[in-house]
Amino acid sequence: MSTKDYLEKDYYKVLGVAKTASQEEIKKSYRKLARKYHPDANKGDTDAEDRFKEVSEAYDVLSDEKRRKEYDSVRSMPGGFRGQQGGGFPFDLGDLFGQGGPGGGTQTGGAGERIGDLFGGLFGRGGGTRTTGPGTRRARRGADVETDVTLPFGRAMNGVTVPIKLTSEAACNSCRGTGAKAGTVPRVCPNCEGTGHETRNLGSFGFQEPCKECHGRGLVVDDPCPVCNGSGRATGTRTIQARIPAGVADGQKIRLKGKGAPGENGGPHGDLYVNIKVRPHPVFGRTGDNLTLTVPVTFPEAALGAEIRVPTFQGQPVTLKLPEGTPNGRKFRVKGRGATRRDGTKGDLLVTVDVQIPQKLDDQAREALVKLRESGSGDDLRADLVQQARQE
Ligand SMILES: [Zn+2]
Ligand SMILES: [Zn+2]
Repeated sequence: MSTKDYLEKDYYKVLGVAKTASQEEIKKSYRKLARKYHPDANKGDTDAEDRFKEVSEAYDVLSDEKRRKEYDSVRSMPGGFRGQQGGGFPFDLGDLFGQGGPGGGTQTGGAGERIGDLFGGLFGRGGGTRTTGPGTRRARRGADVETDVTLPFGRAMNGVTVPIKLTSEAACNSCRGTGAKAGTVPRVCPNCEGTGHETRNLGSFGFQEPCKECHGRGLVVDDPCPVCNGSGRATGTRTIQARIPAGVADGQKIRLKGKGAPGENGGPHGDLYVNIKVRPHPVFGRTGDNLTLTVPVTFPEAALGAEIRVPTFQGQPVTLKLPEGTPNGRKFRVKGRGATRRDGTKGDLLVTVDVQIPQKLDDQAREALVKLRESGSGDDLRADLVQQARQE
């Protein structure tokens, strides 16, 4: 467990307990969550599996008083000096460049490793550190990347593989991420001796602040790399094939495990999050797993009852039996003609009846309606309305 992990992970939040929680509370919450997310109870659900791992990791640390104290003290450190907590020279260029955080959308090259190689011999101190000893090739997970994809309605229903072009930041090829012109190497900052920070004394207080010479990098570049202007970074593009499962809905976020930025030093890839947008269909709508459809019916069909043909999405039309006296707005359910669910089963098609009032009447129709009115089935519907409206 590295200091960086400690900084990035909120174990208390993971377990849903207060920072002041007792061991008993921590254990209780862990048991509850572990049961909920246990792989045996969530077969094939990778989200649950990840949560289970998170919960276990959090419990490992918080249930051990010594490790918990260590964790608490790391978490309470001021943010500005996080890169330097390993003691001595920070060898991880990813830290120096401020890359690699979750959701950062950056792709870090193997630069940390190379800088470690370059300076490992020069700075043999900091030996007793747990995390970033000189020359240590620390495996690091790649950054998570997020992107938007717009799909036609049918593609979203059926699932589709789409190529996604990702632009991400990589180490500059020319200087291999050091920012120094080819053939030269950055110099260790003489002002801070490579620590990246300096101590200012104010009376009896000592303040640590980022070094002004090297802006916290610990290194000074005399001849900047002309390709990246000394930044050490370059922009790279790559295309990945993203499999979008059948039945995705507008606004859904899909996680594609391991499709994010590559890891460093053998670390795993980050994840790719795809924000799905679905273009509307001219006829079908969608609520949850169900498709929706509005069908116009005539007044006689609704009043007398009828068998009507309604379309289904990408399937044969089905016959719907309207009972006598079907009111406007009534919903009918056609089983299994909706969107595909995660488990492969399907939602339903919900058909809403939209009773149409004839806009033009021929003589025969007019006569029939007049007869209907006279038959008395058009009793005064509003008889009680005026009376009821007076109520306070
Ligand atoms: Zn460069
Ligand atoms: Zn410096």
